[in-house]
Amino acid sequence: MGDGTGLDLRDRRASFAALEAETFDLLVIGAGITGCGVARDAAMRGLRVALIDANDVGAGTSSRSSKLIHGGLRYLAQGQVGVVREAANERRALRRIAPHLARTNPMVLLAKSKKGIAALRAALWSYEKLGHVDAHEHHEAWDAGRLAAEEPCVVSEGFAGAVVYPEYLTDDSRLTLANARSAAGHGAVVVTYAAAEELILEDGRARGAVVRGALPGEAEGARINARIVVNAAGPWVDSVRRLEDRGAADRLQLTKGIHVVFRRARIPIGRTIIMNAQDGRSVFAVPREGFVYLGTTDTFYPRPEYWPEITGEDVDYLTDAAARVLDGGPFRRDEIVAVWSGLRPLLAAEGKKPSEISRRDEVMEGPGGVLSIAGGKLTSYRSMAERLVDQCEKELGRKPKPPPTAEEPLPGGDLAGAFEELHSRVQAHGLTPHEAERVARLYGSEALDLFAEGTLPAAEAAHAVLLEGALTLEDYWVRRSARSQFDEEGGLAALEPAAKRMGELLRWSPERRASEIEACRARRASEMRAVSEP
Ligand SMILES: Cc1cc2nc3c(=O)[nH]c(=O)nc-3n(C[C@H](O)[C@H](O)[C@H](O)COP(=O)(O)OP(=O)(O)OC[C@H]3O[C@@H](n4cnc5c(N)ncnc54)[C@H](O)[C@@H]3O)c2cc1C
Repeated sequence: MGDGTGLDLRDRRASFAALEAETFDLLVIGAGITGCGVARDAAMRGLRVALIDANDVGAGTSSRSSKLIHGGLRYLAQGQVGVVREAANERRALRRIAPHLARTNPMVLLAKSKKGIAALRAALWSYEKLGHVDAHEHHEAWDAGRLAAEEPCVVSEGFAGAVVYPEYLTDDSRLTLANARSAAGHGAVVVTYAAAEELILEDGRARGAVVRGALPGEAEGARINARIVVNAAGPWVDSVRRLEDRGAADRLQLTKGIHVVFRRARIPIGRTIIMNAQDGRSVFAVPREGFVYLGTTDTFYPRPEYWPEITGEDVDYLTDAAARVLDGGPFRRDEIVAVWSGLRPLLAAEGKKPSEISRRDEVMEGPGGVLSIAGGKLTSYRSMAERLVDQCEKELGRKPKPPPTAEEPLPGGDLAGAFEELHSRVQAHGLTPHEAERVARLYGSEALDLFAEGTLPAAEAAHAVLLEGALTLEDYWVRRSARSQFDEEGGLAALEPAAKRMGELLRWSPERRASEIEACRARRASEMRAVSEP
């Protein structure tokens, strides 16, 4: 069970009391991948850490990404050699600490001519050399015949072949959760549904924050004292910056990206296909168990929101891109199984198009000393956290000593490389290969624990509450079980049994249980509206 950590957040009074019981070295505002990575790193160094979120762990951008762990090929074209090395290194680290959340995902780069194939190969050779990519993960080149045999779904005209190289596919919200659990296992106090409403300033220096409970009917909150405050609020970074400095100008520019999910039977690809959209941007078709998702778009969005609006135009952009490259189009809106959208918290760059804005990360120090961190990628969260906590240690008068975050397994990650064996043991419980893949990938070494009691949704819901800090049905449905994105009908059938089990553990009244179910149904209806409207 990874580093042996369960996260049970049911006792709210105890949670708020723990936040008030001491002066922390670090208060981290925001439990996305950035904040959870920082909290884990700092806690592993022995710092006292409080990690809070206004919503659930991973409820912001960190559950809305394309879920790819990029080795850094795209940075090569921009000449960013250091970033290529870092991304390739991070990919290896993730495979070590969470093999279940780093599945090999071959990418098919299509080429229109033999010259095109040669150019792609040259780029990949440099990338493999610079990134010290292991020999067994080197690319291969396919001619048109091999492409047709391996990926018959790709349209036969127009491509001379392809170059195929492996990236990794993860589950973003579970990776984020695993980091939060690990942080808690190393002593961090983690509290969700606790929004920072005010910063505590002493002689102009930030010394903590006042948080308010955000669950239905909750009145309590806490006053948290800390030596250093880290603002890892993703798309809300500017709002938190303004708690410190009311007049602070925006530093972020948000861009929205959506994904649409089809059944794999409808788009029967074996690997991720990289497609050129109408405007020349790259768009992916990514297979995951019985589904394929298309993503993503990149358009400016005016304000931070948990559920950025999806338009019919967004959806058509992706289905049109797919129809240009894949047989079987047009891909109709009424065939879409699920959809999601998220906001990239990018550092503003005047005059650039959304897709041209750099994904670099930056730490900004406010007038009261709050360290705000924004930009970056899921892929590089661990090294980004390490750099930030080095800076914090220096401010605390300590010599920075990075902990073994790239070596110690995350919860669920102590598989000793035997993923296939886990998969067959899970399948032996009467699951289809796709269902077994889902469970083994999401839960890693904890997967077999789910077969001890009741139905799978009920067992997953209990696991979510007792070990994974879930407090609402949406926490289970969207971010713990991934059913809202990768299940028939958005996993609505799992809501009743899951709510029943969660209700027992969280002492929900019948009304509360009904309202939890209704909230998830309403969420799905609103997400699917853009898909169904003409
Ligand atoms: C469409 C899309 C596709 C992407 N694809 C990839 C990809 O394939 N690979 C990759 O590496 N990266 C990808 N990214 C980038 C990656 O997802 C983000 O860089 C990353 O998730 C940002 O995480 P974060 O922790 O900074 O922000 P978030 O995950 O948004 O976390 C911020 C948290 O702060 C909390 N918060 C806000 N205000 C407060 C407050 N006042 N008090 C307490 N808490 C607060 C929020 O509730 C939220 O949980 C993608 C991004 C998008 C949008």
